[in-house]
Formats: sequence, C-alpha cells, structure tokens
Amino acid sequence: MPRTAAIIVAAGRGIRAGGGLPKQWRPLAGQRVIDWTLAAFKTHPSVDNIVIVHHSGDLAHIGGLDVVCVQGGDSRNASVRNGLEALATLNPPPERVLIHDAARPATSQALISAVLTMLDHSDAAAPALAVTDALWRGADGHVTGTQDRDGLYRAQTPQGFRFDAILKAHRNTDGPAADDVEVARKAGLAVSIISGDEDNLKITRPEDFARAERILKGRDMDIRVGNGFDVHRFGDGAHVTLCGIDIPHERGLQGHSDADVGMHAVTDAIYGALGDGDIGQHFPPSDPQWKGAASEIFLRHACDLARTRGFTITHADCTLICEHPKIGPHAPAMKAKMAEIMMLDPDRISVKATTSERLGFTGRGEGIASIATATLVRV
Ligand code: MG
Repeated sequence: MPRTAAIIVAAGRGIRAGGGLPKQWRPLAGQRVIDWTLAAFKTHPSVDNIVIVHHSGDLAHIGGLDVVCVQGGDSRNASVRNGLEALATLNPPPERVLIHDAARPATSQALISAVLTMLDHSDAAAPALAVTDALWRGADGHVTGTQDRDGLYRAQTPQGFRFDAILKAHRNTDGPAADDVEVARKAGLAVSIISGDEDNLKITRPEDFARAERILKGRDMDIRVGNGFDVHRFGDGAHVTLCGIDIPHERGLQGHSDADVGMHAVTDAIYGALGDGDIGQHFPPSDPQWKGAASEIFLRHACDLARTRGFTITHADCTLICEHPKIGPHAPAMKAKMAEIMMLDPDRISVKATTSERLGFTGRGEGIASIATATLVRV
C-alpha cells in the first residue's frame, strides 16, 4: 500500500464568500468548513498523513485541529510548497500526495478513491467536469461573442500526484499557477483527468454555503456488512493456499480454482455487502478459463466492483476453521497479502483460525471451512 499524504490548502483569505472571516473557518452545517474537509480525508482508509497549510493570521483558528499545521506563503504556490516540504521531512516521505482546497468540504470518499486509483497508472490525476453550458464572452452586460466549449473542463480538487514528481515540480517552478496541475504540466508531467463530482463544489460566493449545507445534510452514510462462507475438501497435494499464502501440508485442497477457502469467503462477503451474487455467479465453475485460477483475481474483482459503486472497504475479518495446518504462524503473512490485494492497511484485515474441537468434517480433517465478514461504507 503506497504511503499517501494529503495537503489541505487553507491559507486563502476568501473575501468573496462574505462573513468577515476567511471561508474555511466559517460555520457550515454544525461544524466549520475546514472540519468537513478534514473529515473527508481523515476517514479515508488510504490517507496516512494530513498537513493543513494556513495563513499566518489564522493561528487562532488552528487549535484543536489534530493534524500537522504549516504556515502558508504569499501565494497559493508558495503555500503548497510549504506543505510539500513539511511532508518531505517525514521518514519515509509519502509516495503519493493529494492536494485539496479547504473550501471544498463536500468531497466524497469515492472521489478520493478514484484519484488514488488513477495514480496507480499515472504520475498525476485530477477530477474535472466537462463544460456542458454554452459559453459566451461578455462586456458591460452584453454578449460580445461565443466560445467553443469542446475540450473545456472545470477543474476540481483533490489533485493527486506522485510525491517526488510534484515536489520537484514545485521546487523548480516560479511565477503564478492556477493550481497544482498547472505546476505539474509546466514540469512536463502528464495529468490524467478523472470524472469530477457536481457536489464537490468550491465555496466561493455567500450562496454556496446553503448549497454545501444541503449536500452535506442530505448525505446518508451507507454502511454495509456482508458475510461469506466457504468449504473445500482435502485431496492429493503437498500444500494448501490460504488467504494467498502457500502452506506446506500433506494434502492439498480440491477446487475448480486454487481452492483458497479463506479468500473465497472474504470475496463472497464483499459481493454480499454489495448485494451482487457470489463468486460462482461472477466466475462460473463451468467456464474453463477459471480452472486453477489464482483466487486473487476474484478478490480484486470484488474490490474493484465495490470501488466502482462508490464504496470504501473499511474492514474484513476471516476465520479459518481446521485442525491442521496450524494457521497462527502464517496469519501475519496472510494479513499482509490480503491487505496488498485489497489495497487496505493491514490493520483493517483480520485473519484468525479456530478448530472445531475435532467435531464434524473439519474436525475429522476432511476439509477446511472459512467464514468472513466485510464492512463497506459509502458517504
Ligand atoms: Mg470456494
């Protein structure tokens, strides 16, 4: 799991939004704007470190924010640079960074996930919405011309970058830039566009507070818990594959795929939470292409499906039921392997084992069973 940091840029003065206080410190739906923004990143399972960049005049407001706070510079660029330099002092520094405007408090977990997923294949990725309205030029209250909207986008944040690349770009840049994508492009980085979100508004004018409040209050957190159960029987073989780890054993597990009973239970738990069938429906045993397949293909598919539907997997718990082999010595490796496949921190994965007191088919050593739960959240 690449280490990921977020920089929240809160150094602006926000005069257009009115209210006599920079907009990021103003109240919104029972909290301050910045509290909503911060919560979106704090609760995201992939974000490890957060830095807030604030104005030197706003020291009174940063108390109680339990993240690293860094003073901004005299331009947006300089402020982001200060945030990046603060992250560069971490040991080790992050591999990826999300740079986000504090004035966008309604950023969804799904949008953050989408930016991070694109960073797997790209040096830089940012959300944007294609312009759909007709565009005019105007002066003195009159239309003076039209503008072709083809290929025009409205840029949003969070903008995501490989950390080394954007740090270098900021160190080498001078002059103004509208955002970090402009800085990245000046440094020759290719920036991928991902689909933005209309609800991810930037509070700019006084009326934007009411709209942001409607979005945040109307948002229902959707929490789902799915379960999975699986059994495979013992047959010939010299190892078993459990939660992605090969363990030497005097017998193997039989099955159409690699018979990884633990991974199958977790995969079915995710499909269960999504209300979308099971492994057998997505990967029919009658289809020869899945014969002997590595089960991580199934687990990756379930995780991708969850992300596509806007869900973040926050946790999975898997219990293996057998007398032999002994699971305990292999459980840390299983956790690490499952975490890598699911792109989660290992502390969000549990792999444990029990015997059935020599009762039943697992007790007689005829096979291995597994039960699993998975928790998925969409906000
Ligand atoms: Mg199975």
